[in-house]
Amino acid sequence: MGAALRLLPLGQLTGQRILWNASPLIATLAVLTGFAGQAGASAPLQKTQSPGYYRMMVGDIEVTALNDGTFQMDVAKLLQGIKPPALDKALARSFLKSPVEASVNGFLLNTGAKLVLVDTGAGSFYGPTLGKLVANLKAAGYQPEQVDEIYITHMHVDHVGGLVADGKRVFPNAVVRAGQAEGEYWLSQAKLDAAPADGKDGFLHAMATINPYLAAGKYKPFIGDIELVPGVRALGTAGHTPGHTVYVVESKGEKLVLWGDLMHVASVQFPDPTVTIGFDSDAKAARAQRARIFADAADKAYMVGGAHLPFPGLGHLRKDGAGYDFLPVNYTRLN
Ligand SMILES: [Zn+2]
Repeated sequence: MGAALRLLPLGQLTGQRILWNASPLIATLAVLTGFAGQAGASAPLQKTQSPGYYRMMVGDIEVTALNDGTFQMDVAKLLQGIKPPALDKALARSFLKSPVEASVNGFLLNTGAKLVLVDTGAGSFYGPTLGKLVANLKAAGYQPEQVDEIYITHMHVDHVGGLVADGKRVFPNAVVRAGQAEGEYWLSQAKLDAAPADGKDGFLHAMATINPYLAAGKYKPFIGDIELVPGVRALGTAGHTPGHTVYVVESKGEKLVLWGDLMHVASVQFPDPTVTIGFDSDAKAARAQRARIFADAADKAYMVGGAHLPFPGLGHLRKDGAGYDFLPVNYTRLN
């Protein structure tokens, strides 16, 4: 559109300016006749958001961020290693306060040969503000039956809950893959039995969502940092959970790393990556993984995607003192 405008002869531009100058007169006439006032007063508020998908390319791989919804994250209770005055200040600097409305994002990768979904959202496990990933996948032009592979960053229910609905597989043709250590932990009957009463849900939810795929011969854990399909490889980042894995997407010299729960609260953990969260299985290891992966992302200047960053959860890291700035992705209309 910019190029077209530059080619317009001066006369047309002048004409456009005259029309624009005339518009207040038209508006005045509309108010005098009562038309504009009625139209404004009768339009109800819509109170809905745009469809929760965002598309971009990484080389030849099409990436579609899919929003599963949002939830209220009580960061004042959950974050560790930061005291209330500093926490409130960090939140206020981003015009936020606790609880923070946090996104839950999955990412669909079309490699040209395979359709791969990274994480599935919460499904029906977290109430009506979540569980919208499949609706947004459909809005983005795909059907659950088309998904070939699902890569799980970890087995917390806001990442695996969308695998099932009413106990049945939502993605009937997909193979589910996760780091071997993740399944060995969360799918272990012995660990479920040993867990305290208030710690059993994590195991039960992982079993409820993964076992239908296991029973169908469609759960295939992997060991090590291997390539899963051309252009997508696993990178072990144990800490948040015992088998937490990030996924590296690369094509034609471009790169995107999908972080899962490497971090949770942008306004706090980018400026101070040492802050941990109560969900961590091993907070010390989670902190070390975050330091390593943040530094790599800023140093090599590739795109990252976070499961709980504000939708679409995509952007770059820039070093800023002891911490980082997050620069959200520049909007592209793609076509
Ligand atoms: Zn999560």
